[in-house]
Amino acid sequence: MSGFILAIDQGTTSTRSIVFDTDYRVCGLGQQEFAQHFPRSGWVEHDPEDLWRTTLATIRFALANAKIAASDLAGIGITNQRETTILWDRATGKVIHNAIVWQDRRTADQCDRLKAEGAEALVRQKTGLLLDPYFSGSKIAWLLDHVEGARAKAERGELAFGTVDSYLLWRLTGGRVHATDATNASRTLLFDIHRGEWDDELLRLFDVPRSLLPDVRDSADDFGSADPDILGAAVPIAGIAGDQHAATLGQACFSPGMMKATYGTGCFALLNTGSDPVPSQNRLLTTIAYRLDGKTTYALEGSIFVAGSAIQWLRDGLGIIDRADQSGPMAAAADPHQDVYLVPAFTGLGAPWWDAHARGALFGITRSTGPKEIARAALESVCFQTRDLLDAMQRDWASGGETVLRVDGGMVASDWTMQRLADILDAPVDRPVVLETTALGAAWLAGRQQGVWPGEEGFSAGWHREQRFLPGMTGSEREAKLAGWHDAVKRTLTA
Ligand code: ADP
Repeated sequence: MSGFILAIDQGTTSTRSIVFDTDYRVCGLGQQEFAQHFPRSGWVEHDPEDLWRTTLATIRFALANAKIAASDLAGIGITNQRETTILWDRATGKVIHNAIVWQDRRTADQCDRLKAEGAEALVRQKTGLLLDPYFSGSKIAWLLDHVEGARAKAERGELAFGTVDSYLLWRLTGGRVHATDATNASRTLLFDIHRGEWDDELLRLFDVPRSLLPDVRDSADDFGSADPDILGAAVPIAGIAGDQHAATLGQACFSPGMMKATYGTGCFALLNTGSDPVPSQNRLLTTIAYRLDGKTTYALEGSIFVAGSAIQWLRDGLGIIDRADQSGPMAAAADPHQDVYLVPAFTGLGAPWWDAHARGALFGITRSTGPKEIARAALESVCFQTRDLLDAMQRDWASGGETVLRVDGGMVASDWTMQRLADILDAPVDRPVVLETTALGAAWLAGRQQGVWPGEEGFSAGWHREQRFLPGMTGSEREAKLAGWHDAVKRTLTA
């Protein structure tokens, strides 16, 4: 059997399909954007048909690009935007509503009500998450209560719920398989991450009938095979993981203490805590990193709302750069004697500050401050926020080992930022050769399951660093900068 693996990476703004060979090289790629729907302020929807259409189109493109046929594939791995919620009719296959996207805030009141009733402790303990509209649970209840006849149909077992992985799996298998993996299940607020099962108490809390739910499997597992009428061959679907979990795998963070951060529009950091589901005292999330051979590996997760989007603001809001890659060289040319700080609380501040009402601020501006200093402050804000996140993770769980951060995402192209990140973290920052880590992680799951790619050890040996950035800043300079940053944050917080 050939070792080609297809990874489907269904993201928030675009769908990508990538063909990898056994040397983990990208040999075919298709990508398509699709429409975002904002029916009201704070609401975000996707048309599931768009997700399916772009999946099929990009698969075909990637196969053509790699000059192979579907029959040459040893397996398919799926990775996806997490938490986004879809309900469909089991008999007709028709969705009952647009997908409610993870960013959607329409169920904020419902979550506030449950919090006021004191439900958060239970939710935290069982799911490792916060009682927040971000996750799927309250979105499912909203659909059942707002789409006519939906709840009655659900009670009769006629509807199916899925996150995007489940929905695509169901479509790819011609409606034969309704399943998900443990990482995606762990983002629904309905799954007990300790027992590894859907939880009746949580189902009652969110008023969700059990009959809706998909079967939960390992991240590398038998998920059935693609309908030959769809792809032209019955290719096995053998791996599924949510995007950040797949990136953790793609970065080969298999051992406790290993950590990855993905710097796109926002930033997501995951710290592998092994078989230990570490509860957070700092409002980080406890989540399932992956489940292999029935064994669950856990992670602490923290996110930064504004990372690359601070650079987009330099370009589109301030107009001081034309392209994102100009920001690093500009920062390098900034006046070292000016201490300018940007707190990019454009939509509030996340972990570990958690202030939804805070708004962005610039500090330390003088008559000689210009675009270069502001560009530097924007890039540095990403570094400072990462430091705060890592400090919070270490307060929750100290591995005792040396911290090394493996990085990926669009922003890591900036050498200046990666060097400054190492300086501020006082820890090495490793940038891998293969930057398509999310798709690679999904591909690895499928390749491992199909026996054409190596297991954890072999894959780790094949993970290669393109560059390591070592901290070069003096301790006193770092401390002074951190003090300046924390002072700026303190003055930005609203409470
Ligand atoms: P997403 O998957 O969230 O769409 P990507 O991983 O594609 O994001 O990363 C894109 C982000 O990275 C953009 O916000 C962009 O501003 C930023 N970015 C891209 N290249 C650079 C660069 N050379 N320097 C700084 N930021 C960059």
